[in-house]
Amino acid sequence: MVSQELLDILRCPVCVHNQPEGGDLVQEGNWLICRDCDRKYPIRDDIPVMLIDEGDRFREVPRGELPLVPPPELEHEASLPELAAECPNVLPGLLLATAGLLLGAWLIWLLSRRRLGR
Ligand SMILES: [Zn+2]
Repeated sequence: MVSQELLDILRCPVCVHNQPEGGDLVQEGNWLICRDCDRKYPIRDDIPVMLIDEGDRFREVPRGELPLVPPPELEHEASLPELAAECPNVLPGLLLATAGLLLGAWLIWLLSRRRLGR
């Protein structure tokens, strides 16, 4: 449970930025909902997560359809295929780096073999 004192202090970071008096939040279950912009900030383990990214995620979801327990943060959900889809340059880069390492190791092995051969 988030204390009323904390609720009184907390404001939606987006609306406070636009107008100092704005960004009043209403608590609904595990969510803090901004009265002005309808961004919805999750409360995880009794800690309100006041990140704009988090508020944006469920902005379009009607209040009645919010999950009872907020889903985990985005970073923790991204798996390797999702990461590859988001930044397509990562995977070829990794492969290239691996190939480079193998090539280097092979060259060193080749050179050391030649030296031994002499
Ligand atoms: Zn807001």
